[in-house]
Amino acid sequence: DDSELSGSLEGESPESSRLGVELLCVVKAVLKKIKRRVLVGDKVVVGSIDWVDRRGMIENVFQRSSEILDPPVANVDHLLVLFSMDQPKLEPFTLTRFLVEAESTGIPLTLGLNKLELVDEETLVSWKSRLRSWGYDPVFCSVQTRTGLDSLAYILRDQTTVIVGPSGVGKSSLINALRNKNHAADVVDGDNWFDPILGSKWFEDQRVAEVSTRSGRGKHTTRHVSLLPLSGGGYLADTPGFNQPSLMKITKQSLAQAFPEIRIMLLASEPAKCSFNDCLHLGEPGCVVKGDWERYQYYFQLLDEIRIREEFQ
Ligand code: GDP
Ligand code: ZN
Repeated sequence: DDSELSGSLEGESPESSRLGVELLCVVKAVLKKIKRRVLVGDKVVVGSIDWVDRRGMIENVFQRSSEILDPPVANVDHLLVLFSMDQPKLEPFTLTRFLVEAESTGIPLTLGLNKLELVDEETLVSWKSRLRSWGYDPVFCSVQTRTGLDSLAYILRDQTTVIVGPSGVGKSSLINALRNKNHAADVVDGDNWFDPILGSKWFEDQRVAEVSTRSGRGKHTTRHVSLLPLSGGGYLADTPGFNQPSLMKITKQSLAQAFPEIRIMLLASEPAKCSFNDCLHLGEPGCVVKGDWERYQYYFQLLDEIRIREEFQ
């Protein structure tokens, strides 16, 4: 939370600090004392470096641009919301819950739809236009037939991405497909690696940034997250996130912002605004948001769910 980070270093860590050297670090006692956790993805200041044994000490943590808790990763700048076209069936309300939870983090997201080979052209076309009306332009893929993986690889470059979605849609399979391209588990520094799809050296940095494995302790006691380095300095978390969107951080007021349809209607009506500052867009007088869109019923349903939760809190 904010108080935990209030003493963090301000500003960007210098890119020149990407030396490409792996150091096994301990966290300075004073950081532990003020309960500042160091997360996977954190940018840190390392001191007391022993270049022979490749050891160091984490002395401070840079301010995070974002943070998610499930899995615990700092400085996430992209979420890949993954669903499947079938098996399990693409269910619009479940998809909406995940999209709303992802939108509420404020982190940019891409919608990926896997198992493309399981549906016919007609189904695909109708989902495409349906999702476009929701405000999304999904990337369709199939881990099985290796379709669309190059597009995903392109989107994932340059950023730190966490994949989220319900179980069974192929999140682990996709992470493995991307990991196998990387050969991260068994490469030695300096190995060249050729990608059959992109036809070029795919990963500049083939080492896997990991926590807790080197120490050989505590590996299985906490949820293990690694970041797989991608070309161009991007990373992919190897552990998928929020299997069950709790919507706990969403308020009645913030819910509307998680629907692109409402955001677009509010923008389109500018400079006119809803008459009430705290308008929930449920037909209040002077509301500029109309109710003639497919997911309006889901908005209404989620609003009710949040209202009940807020009343019982
Ligand atoms: P997760 O629970 O989201 O991590 O899903 P998994 O990666 O465990 O995959 C669930 C099942 O879907 C496994 O049996 C996979 O082999 C299968 N699967 C993954 N990708 C595809 C795909 O593109 N097409 C089909 N037909 N099955 C897939
Ligand atoms: Zn309104």
